[in-house]
Amino acid sequence: MHDNLNEKCAVVGIFGHQEASKLAYFSLHSLQHRGQEAAGISSSDGKKLHTIKKRGLVMRVFDEEKLKTLSGSAAIGHTRYSTAGDDSILDAQPVFARYDLGEMAIVHNGNLTNAEEVRNKLIQKGAIFQTFMDTENLIHLIAKSEQEKLIDRIIDAVQRIEGAFSLVFLSRTKMFAMRDRHGFRPLSLGKLPNGGYIVASETCAFDLVGATFVRDVEPGELLVFSGAKEPKSIKVFEPTPKHCIFEYVYFARPDSSVFGQSVYKARKEMGKELANIAPVEADVVIPVPDGGVPSAIGYAQESGIPYEMGIMRNHYIGRTFIEPTQEMRDLKVKMKLSPMTDIIKDKRVVVIDDSIVRGTTSRRIVRMLKEAGASEVHMRVSSPPTTDPCYYGVDTPDKDKLIAANMSTEEICDYIGADSLAYLDEASLLRSVNAKNDEYCTACFTGKYIV
Ligand code: AMP
Repeated sequence: MHDNLNEKCAVVGIFGHQEASKLAYFSLHSLQHRGQEAAGISSSDGKKLHTIKKRGLVMRVFDEEKLKTLSGSAAIGHTRYSTAGDDSILDAQPVFARYDLGEMAIVHNGNLTNAEEVRNKLIQKGAIFQTFMDTENLIHLIAKSEQEKLIDRIIDAVQRIEGAFSLVFLSRTKMFAMRDRHGFRPLSLGKLPNGGYIVASETCAFDLVGATFVRDVEPGELLVFSGAKEPKSIKVFEPTPKHCIFEYVYFARPDSSVFGQSVYKARKEMGKELANIAPVEADVVIPVPDGGVPSAIGYAQESGIPYEMGIMRNHYIGRTFIEPTQEMRDLKVKMKLSPMTDIIKDKRVVVIDDSIVRGTTSRRIVRMLKEAGASEVHMRVSSPPTTDPCYYGVDTPDKDKLIAANMSTEEICDYIGADSLAYLDEASLLRSVNAKNDEYCTACFTGKYIV
């Protein structure tokens, strides 16, 4: 169902800075982990929008010359992540359109849950679509809205969509940032050092451009950037937070703060909780790099078992065209991770990863560690079993491919060939992120969907 939709991605917006597109470019660099399929930037010089988008990593899509053509003091950017299937450049963002009020560009992180329904209605009314992205729905909704001003059209449009959206819109003179009422995906506001503002999916983008964190864009809030004024806040929806807990588990960079907390600290806490609920006698704790690193540090500190780097990761293997089949995925794990034999040989090893999705990675890792001479391999996972697909922007396979939806923990342990396997439970996970109320979406672990 998801293959062509707008999956986990990053968005950024820069407003009120002479080198807006350059800052957007640097920000996208630090958000590259959220999507490696394609990258794009639209800028506005006040009269006209300029857009460049292409498949590939940020560094390959842009160069000095290209950035020069993206002139103006406002720019929005996007890195795209997609699963198998559509490799069309049309599906890269920003999505750009000319309409009766002028020009507009949009970037989107999240998944709309009523995208098909909205699209079908628009098609019945004569709309023609160029891409498979649900983001294109918004362009049509804005263009067709009966409201006169763009801001009212945006409000009108977002009231017709459901699901997860962290959005940034750019017109010739204004920028708008909007988060869905649940705040599924993160979006933060920062101040640039020499005037102007930045909004970005993660705060690690702020650090790179020297911006200071102001606050998160609130769930249901629309921020309007215009002239030299402070951004104006409009409450479009009553906020009912349901932040994606998987941002803490896997997605976000450890040096970011999302939903008001340090990702690194949350992950380390998960490791500590895991050490308490699933202790084991062992000689060494090792992470599956990079995702398992902070929780392995937490596990080691709490258990007193020495932490070592037992697996080396090759960072130069990006997402490649070979991914879609299972056989090729197996090969890719081999290309990516190699064992440090000296650390592992004859040792009882606790290996920590952030999640098990299909089970391919863990199976390969356990086999690799045993081949390198480990006497025992105990797999510890710093999140609960992933049993249900995500409809709000995380790229998860269908339920029949989620190993924990089809096997018990004992069966998975057997399948991956480990001496023991244990997951974090939901209560411990929520404790690790200081959850107070019901503010997190844990549907991928519980199947309890809210939208
Ligand atoms: P699998 O082999 O399918 O069990 O994948 C598990 C590995 O994929 C773990 O090491 C995770 O760090 C990583 N992972 C978890 N969720 C995702 C995701 N949405 N996209 C890409 N990788 C993921």
